[in-house]
Amino acid sequence: MTLDSPRADFADPGLHARGLYIGGDWLPGGGIPVTNPSTAEVLAEVPDASVEDAMRAVDAAEAAAAGWRATPPRQRAEILRRWFGLMTDHAEDLARLISLENGKALPDARGEVAYAAEFFRWYAEEAVRIPGEFRHAPSGAHHILVDHDPIGIAVLITPWNFPAAMATRKIGPALAAGCTVILKPASETPLTAYAMARLGAEAGVPPGVVNVLTTSQPGPVVSAMLADPRVRKLSFTGSTGVGRTLLAEAAKTVVSCSMELGGNAPFLVFDDADLDAALDGAMIAKMRNAGEACTAANRFYVQAGIHDAFVAGLTARMAALVVGAGTDAATQVGPMITTKAVTKIDRLVSQAVARGARVTTGGAPLPGSGYFYPPTVIENVPEDAEIAHEEIFGPVAPIYRFETEEQAIRLANATEYGLAAYVYSGDLSRALRVGKGIETGMVAINRGLMSDPAAPFGGAKQSGLGREGGVTGILEFMEPKYFAVNF
Ligand code: NAD
Repeated sequence: MTLDSPRADFADPGLHARGLYIGGDWLPGGGIPVTNPSTAEVLAEVPDASVEDAMRAVDAAEAAAAGWRATPPRQRAEILRRWFGLMTDHAEDLARLISLENGKALPDARGEVAYAAEFFRWYAEEAVRIPGEFRHAPSGAHHILVDHDPIGIAVLITPWNFPAAMATRKIGPALAAGCTVILKPASETPLTAYAMARLGAEAGVPPGVVNVLTTSQPGPVVSAMLADPRVRKLSFTGSTGVGRTLLAEAAKTVVSCSMELGGNAPFLVFDDADLDAALDGAMIAKMRNAGEACTAANRFYVQAGIHDAFVAGLTARMAALVVGAGTDAATQVGPMITTKAVTKIDRLVSQAVARGARVTTGGAPLPGSGYFYPPTVIENVPEDAEIAHEEIFGPVAPIYRFETEEQAIRLANATEYGLAAYVYSGDLSRALRVGKGIETGMVAINRGLMSDPAAPFGGAKQSGLGREGGVTGILEFMEPKYFAVNF
């Protein structure tokens, strides 16, 4: 069934509205098919924006900029708060839409909608607390006054794995700061972005403040926007490879960049950890979104004394999971986003097995029309296997054995990435010490989940630049302005 036919399972069929959203107008079109990864069926087509369309979006963002910047923070806050309310009211429809176009299991999709909406509530609260500074110059000669201006038009680029949350994590702080934006969602999952734009208009976001466009040519379309001197911000979430390309592109016009890139999270379990708690945490850290998360535990390092029990426990839990179409009520693990993703996961597992790893559950793609790979555990993985260095982005847990704390830290750091890490230990001093030793932006201690709109999310090393969320997230969309003042 496509989204063009009426669907009894959506309370609000208007949420299917789609078309380029520029200056408050919906411009219909087609050219980009959106596929349901659970069935390989085409759900809908969305327009394929050209460079000219993108420049129209920049014009619209420019036309709305002065008015939005001058809108009192309290009023900006109230619009964001209403948008939060509308997302919450439409949570079930949004979750179904996410599940249809991304494939994730409905419980994951519902969790994403709640998380995504929370960025609007959080930044509604932060919009009215934009900081400033007043200091005395050490010389005594003058005073130092620091104001924060909205940075200007922001281009926001988001991936397919969290179609709602990666967008709201950028739109929330940008609008709170007083910026107008152009959102380019991933072509795999554009329907959620268009649905949220419709709710934004209903919440009172003025025309041109949020523009949304889909394109099959992100390279030229985004380059053209970055080359326009009116665009002053690029906020990107996606792979490290594309992030590097965009940093080089942004260098030409010295556009401010925030980069949320790939991860390769280590999950460390020490002998003194509570085994059941570590297994519970491992299941969340690995299996939220079927492993298609930048924070997903990618390498499990388990101390020798607890290793075998952990392998047995994780194998049993992974083998018990129900794999199926995202929208099926019983499903716990949905499909991967594309066949290409399944092929990559299969290659990483096969290569590890060829080098001596042992599969304890799963280990090969599932037959059928959807893009399914089963929950998989592999142990005895050699440290130099490709799977230890690449982002798996799927439901595979490779387990490595370690002996000492120093060895665990060394192994955790043996990657160009530094987004997230997990540490399980009954000794909080040790867990904090190990966390300090890991080169990463975020550490979860005795927890399998760290994402929180109120906390600074982001990576060290090649996992990114800047932070989203928390009290500092709004500053990514502001330019500090210093006044040297005599009075
Ligand atoms: P991707 O880099 O392929 O695509 C991300 C976005 O960039 C998409 O909208 C895509 O259309 C666009 N894009 C691709 N090529 C482009 C180009 N040349 N110019 C401009 N835009 C371009 O990533 P993906 O496969 O969609 O997402 C998975 C990746 O995202 C993983 O590496 C994951 O770790 C990362 N991710 C990071 C975070 C984080 O917060 N650090 C969060 C989610 C996902």
